[in-house]
Amino acid sequence: MAKPDGFLEYGRVTPAYRPVEERVMDFREIEVPLDEEALRRQAARCMDCGVPFCHSYGCPLGNLVPDYSDAVYRGDWKEALDLMHSTNNFPEFTGLVCPALCEASCTLALDEAATACRHIELQIAEKGWEEGWIVPEPAPVKTGRTAAIIGSGPAGLAAAQQLARKGHSVVVLEKSDRIGGTLQYGIPNYKLEKQLISRRISQMEQEGVKFETDVAVGDDLSAKYIMKNYDAVLITSGTPKPRDIAVPGRHLKGVHFAMELLTQQTKLLYGDEIPADELIDPCGKHVVVIGGGDTGADCVGTSIRRGCKSVTQVELLPAPPEEREAGNPWPEWPRIFRTASAHLEGCDRVWSVLTKKFYGEGLSSDGASSGGSSPGGLSSGGLSSGGASLEGNERGRVTKVGCARLQWEGRGFTEIPGSDFLLDADLVLLSMGFVPHRESKLVNDFGLEQDSTGSVQVDDGYHTSVTGVFAAGDAVTGASLVVRAINHGRRAAEMVHEYLSGL
Ligand SMILES: Cc1cc2nc3c(=O)[nH]c(=O)nc-3n(C[C@H](O)[C@H](O)[C@H](O)COP(=O)(O)OP(=O)(O)OC[C@H]3O[C@@H](n4cnc5c(N)ncnc54)[C@H](O)[C@@H]3O)c2cc1C
Repeated sequence: MAKPDGFLEYGRVTPAYRPVEERVMDFREIEVPLDEEALRRQAARCMDCGVPFCHSYGCPLGNLVPDYSDAVYRGDWKEALDLMHSTNNFPEFTGLVCPALCEASCTLALDEAATACRHIELQIAEKGWEEGWIVPEPAPVKTGRTAAIIGSGPAGLAAAQQLARKGHSVVVLEKSDRIGGTLQYGIPNYKLEKQLISRRISQMEQEGVKFETDVAVGDDLSAKYIMKNYDAVLITSGTPKPRDIAVPGRHLKGVHFAMELLTQQTKLLYGDEIPADELIDPCGKHVVVIGGGDTGADCVGTSIRRGCKSVTQVELLPAPPEEREAGNPWPEWPRIFRTASAHLEGCDRVWSVLTKKFYGEGLSSDGASSGGSSPGGLSSGGLSSGGASLEGNERGRVTKVGCARLQWEGRGFTEIPGSDFLLDADLVLLSMGFVPHRESKLVNDFGLEQDSTGSVQVDDGYHTSVTGVFAAGDAVTGASLVVRAINHGRRAAEMVHEYLSGL
């Protein structure tokens, strides 16, 4: 620790966001990086506490936060980069999108503001690219063994890089038209610009990794073919199936899964053509996002950038508390109220609200107008609990969402009588999480056992029920985080390497 009293001398500073009125006009990165001197001061705040929960408890990758902070403070950026890469293949991804579990468990966070580990991580990686220190690291000797990785998200990419560097011949098979999984199609460009993925893919190609897109394993290629042609298989197929909602009017035009909008948006930014009848266009529309999580917030930010008239995010659960509750002490991840950058751009958030019905064109004007509309598109009253007075046309386009307020008791809820209300909605985005691979052709074709949730079942060594077939990332854990997927990919690669070495 180069500066023992750094945490006493300097306060926590994190990167500012570009002003709202500027950033909503484009899809570029929203954070303004700290300058080098400010960053050095932030690095000096790490107090080398002796029991660094940040790396031993918080960060799934075990990032060496005290060591890289010290190196940054001393100005030894190359050492910081080497320390970073010793635990994390893609620190620029986590440096941008990680919720920073390390910061939540920082010892300073006990009664002070945590160190700014996430941003320091990003800048170490960016410095590495700028200085030309991040170069391909091909294996000096090839092993002659082959591995197929199915799915190119952070788990698959991390595993592919690790295995290629061990000298194995690796092919990544991806059903989508571009590599990157949810980093590519999911996380919006304003949180993660896509050239950051391209430069890593280029590095990995030069390390010998082969990428094949538009190949859906289970459909375009059989498990039998893959097992015959590769010595080992690693499944990192994520949780591609969004959770649906079974309410009347679900089939109406204008009701879409969040991922449809988010995927289209990235494609549009690449200049891809989207056929007019498939285009989801929030421009000029009242948008209702169902689901209060991060994917929902990404829909909010995307809709605002696309010029929506209003956007409301609806959550079934009650709003979390502002501060940690007694049962959720440090260094656990704090289950508290969070505001994403998108929420600061002009969004209404409603909590403890049940979505009961989608109404289509033809809704009686009585019901539609009763209670008036707030600027966020919220109209209250006018609906009985069963929605009996408002039998809108269930064909055509969606125009309203029928909701009711909830009273939560423990893990159960009851509807508050007479609390029904309507939200104006020309576009509804379903963002209620993802379900595991229960009926997936991929999993069935390989004949993999699944756990009680439907995720792919693996043993402690990431081995599935089929010899030579491994699995990692969200496909195993259920929907999670980029940092956990990278960690899983790295750990699974170690096991695949061990397996290949024994053949
Ligand atoms: C909208 C959104 C925003 C998110 N934002 C964040 C964030 O800000 N921070 C964060 O830490 N986490 C975030 N997450 C979660 C994070 O992106 C995931 O946890 C992580 O990407 C999982 O990585 P993975 O490699 O396991 O799977 P994925 O990234 O989902 O990749 C799986 C890949 O497998 C491919 N695939 C599936 N089936 C087949 C098949 N049969 N054949 C070939 N390929 C197949 C898919 O097309 C996909 O490309 C977000 C998730 C979403 C959906």
